[in-house]
Amino acid sequence: MKNIKHVGFVFLILLNLIACTQNTSKTDYFASNAFGNPVTGNVGEYYNGVTYVSYQGPLEDAYVAAYHHQTKKWVGPFKAGTSLMGKDPSRKIDNHGKPTLVVDKNGYIHMVFGGHGGTKALGKNPLGNYHYGKQKHVVSKKPYDISSWQEVDNISPFGTYSRFIKMDNGDLYLFYRHGAHTSNWVYQKSVDNGLTFTQPISIIKTKKSKLSSESQNIQDSWYLHFSKGKNNDIIVAYNYHVCKGPKHDGERHHVYYMKFDTNKNEWYNVKNEKLMLPVTKEQADIMTLVKNTGERWTHNGIARLDKNGNPHVTSYEGDYEGKIHGGVKTLQHYYWTGQDWKSNQNNDLPEGARGEMLINTNNQIKLLLGDTTNNGDVAWWISNDNGNSFTKETILLKSKKGKFLLSNFIRNAHPDAQILVAEKKGNEDIKMCLLGENGPIYRSKKDAK
Ligand code: ZN
Repeated sequence: MKNIKHVGFVFLILLNLIACTQNTSKTDYFASNAFGNPVTGNVGEYYNGVTYVSYQGPLEDAYVAAYHHQTKKWVGPFKAGTSLMGKDPSRKIDNHGKPTLVVDKNGYIHMVFGGHGGTKALGKNPLGNYHYGKQKHVVSKKPYDISSWQEVDNISPFGTYSRFIKMDNGDLYLFYRHGAHTSNWVYQKSVDNGLTFTQPISIIKTKKSKLSSESQNIQDSWYLHFSKGKNNDIIVAYNYHVCKGPKHDGERHHVYYMKFDTNKNEWYNVKNEKLMLPVTKEQADIMTLVKNTGERWTHNGIARLDKNGNPHVTSYEGDYEGKIHGGVKTLQHYYWTGQDWKSNQNNDLPEGARGEMLINTNNQIKLLLGDTTNNGDVAWWISNDNGNSFTKETILLKSKKGKFLLSNFIRNAHPDAQILVAEKKGNEDIKMCLLGENGPIYRSKKDAK
């Protein structure tokens, strides 16, 4: 009897030990080979029980992984395509060719990546200037299978900030800037699952600015963020870059909003007044301005709709601090009341934090923000008063000595996998996490390489 008890006790200790090993061998990241600033924009999609995600990996190449929700199994990461950038050790990390991902109606997975405006070696850029890299399109060889890929030559090579939007009928829109700073922003549309695309169609125009003088050449330049709006609309939050020469810096101002009715193939401002394409600086100022930020510098945020279909827009704003991109910027929230744009001070949000926004059916505004200071976290911030005040609610991830960079929400997201997050401790240690309502999806440590 005594012996049996003893054996049982030892057995319990063993069980505990195994459990401990299992706990410590699980990690909150699924890959540790991310590189630079690995995520931006529309990086993933939930499709038929699987979440597909993409990010920038070693040598700035395009990587992909998939999570099967029912079996709770990860697949990948796999390299999906090779960038022309990231191979020359004398250049700094470019970070402009991060991948965007979409799944077409037949289950094939598409990624576009690798562009920072292209080079003269790729031919004449009719809609802008050059910088580096080549915008590439790769497609999975088989549906639902991320293990093998082929490159297809059916989009312009002069893209950067590439972003796929998929409409409910399966039409694909690929948005990007058609070159370096002084280039039009364009889209190419595909109605046949990415087999063919239209020629690039210009949305907004780069041209010599009316602010130019004899001593200073200034070009109108832009940063646009696209997301799916109501029904067949695509909504756009954007800002203006004062592209100066010969001495150049990152001066950007103001907040703008417009939308694209893809059914009518027409563009409108918030009052449903029709816009003429490509939009010029003059037209943007008169028709689409959310906020003139004056001397304050901005980084572009996003637009989302509330339950009444009114847009809310985020922007990151701060005073010029003598730095190339101005200085620390903090999220500012704007919303359309039906009559005019309202703004808030947003003093309670953490300096430098960036991320996503959704407005739920109670018109509660929820920001999911990644802290860009060290020892940061990823947390939900909630406002019940139209953005006048925000309260920190749930912390989903925390980092010792790390900061967080967030993608946009995953298309058609499963509650367990809403956003892709990079945890970054310098350029050497960057981990990729897939976050849902209750926190990260775990993976065994040996597989999360
Ligand atoms: Zn510029």
